Amino acid sequence: MSVLNVLPPDIPEPPGEGAPCNGCGMCCVLALCPKAKGPPCEHLLWHKVERRFRCEMVVVADEVGGETAVVVRKALGIGNGCLS
Ligand code: SF4
Ligand code: SF4
Repeated sequence: MSVLNVLPPDIPEPPGEGAPCNGCGMCCVLALCPKAKGPPCEHLLWHKVERRFRCEMVVVADEVGGETAVVVRKALGIGNGCLS
């Protein structure tokens, strides 16, 4: 994964407001969360193989695991639904 300076040409399509989250990460491009200082968000990572964006803070929290991952995901609104 890499931090972005320019958007890659093959960015995914978000499923649309209210749809279940598919993890594409386009919300972090289109509607930054309150923790971001952008645009572009300095925590935005592009996963070239999976062709999706990931949040650096979530990647790190997932590596730590346990309650840390739960708290970070909740603070960032992960899993609340598309562009919610
Ligand atoms: S969730 Fe992470 S990558 Fe997305 S806008 Fe917020 S800080 Fe940036
Ligand atoms: S909420 Fe974000 S990551 Fe989830 S489907 Fe929508 S744009 Fe993609």
